[in-house]
Amino acid sequence: MRVAVLKEDNCQPKKCNDECHAFCPPVRNGQECIILDDKTGKPHISESLCIGCGICVNKCPHDALIIEQLPSELETDMIHRYSMNGFRLFRLPTPSKESVVGILGPNGMGKSTAINALSGRIIPNLGDWMDKDADWDGVIESLPRGELRDFFVAVKAEKIRVALKPQNVDRLPKRVQGTVRDLLTKVDERNMFQEMTEKLGIDHLLERTIQQLSGGELQRMAICATLLRDVDVYFFDEPSSYLDIHERMRIVGIIQELSETKRVIVIEHDLAVLDVLCDLVHIVYGKKGAFGIFTPARSTRQAINTYLDGFLPEQNVRIRDKPIKFLNHSDRVAELGSQVVSWGGLGKKLGDFTLSTGEGAVHRSEVVGVVGPNGTGKSTMIKVLAGEHDYDEGWVTSSASISYKPQH
Ligand code: SF4
Ligand code: SF4
Repeated sequence: MRVAVLKEDNCQPKKCNDECHAFCPPVRNGQECIILDDKTGKPHISESLCIGCGICVNKCPHDALIIEQLPSELETDMIHRYSMNGFRLFRLPTPSKESVVGILGPNGMGKSTAINALSGRIIPNLGDWMDKDADWDGVIESLPRGELRDFFVAVKAEKIRVALKPQNVDRLPKRVQGTVRDLLTKVDERNMFQEMTEKLGIDHLLERTIQQLSGGELQRMAICATLLRDVDVYFFDEPSSYLDIHERMRIVGIIQELSETKRVIVIEHDLAVLDVLCDLVHIVYGKKGAFGIFTPARSTRQAINTYLDGFLPEQNVRIRDKPIKFLNHSDRVAELGSQVVSWGGLGKKLGDFTLSTGEGAVHRSEVVGVVGPNGTGKSTMIKVLAGEHDYDEGWVTSSASISYKPQH
């Protein structure tokens, strides 16, 4: 099956010469493979007339088109399509009882669409994007008998409630006002406020405003808010970002405990966390912004190895040009260059927190790692070295200008 997708944001008919239309071979032969919209000037591409030559993709000056050939078996597996040349999703992950189900794959492959479908926020149109009256019966009939079909029967009966831990917790301070206590009290449907805040190690943050929290604290607060909801399915979108290794392991235990009584789906890029947390994993692959395909669930180990390998044997599909291989560390001490920055006895007071360091240095040709729990001053030290913070005590020498990539 042919898939033709227009990246709406990229397409700029006023800043091009309609190259997609002008060079399309079927159009030149009089077929209406591409029609330019009367109002917007943007192309509508007929997938049935397109011959897949790719000329429009190469000619478009704004990288606005994607043309792909997909296996014909997928034709009956389309779950949702937004428009004629819009994003489409094939297959769905299955929320399973007593299992933590993981989703592994790049962003932009339709996980939000999947979550919206599984939560009943959108009724999947099964590819018929013009059908504004799509109903749950059609969705249920399209699925083979099994757990996913039973799940949608419950969604139709409005027996499924979901909670979502959003991906971008750093956006919460702009969207949510008040203290941590205010926010968590409002969502405490399970009467587990005290237990969960203690388990997540945020019980000392309750009187702080959301705007005062660090990335790791925001993450734990968002996870806590999700856990406090009394729902049937819990989605955790990237729960490990901003967390140190101890906090990650703590979250793993809490989510696994939750899965004993509730359905849990976790979207996670950290393979180590996925490995220890999940019972089953769906790989999602496709083309960012164009289409996404969920594979059936595999055991976690098998899914991770398949993902790293970049080849799906059952589907006979290569999802990446090359396998991901972990390189062995090469010791480069012999090539150590001159000193770039050094420091000693640094002291910096920030509110209740005081940083104190020993001596250290960074040389050319050297990568220096800093490891330790959140809240112990790693960022403060880096900011001092980068000149973003003054220091109260100690010394820093620097013979180079320093660029600093902040945490969030
Ligand atoms: S797809 Fe490209 S060539 Fe076609 S109208 Fe849009 S910007 Fe112009
Ligand atoms: S890929 Fe399809 S739409 Fe694009 S130029 Fe070729 S035939 Fe036309």
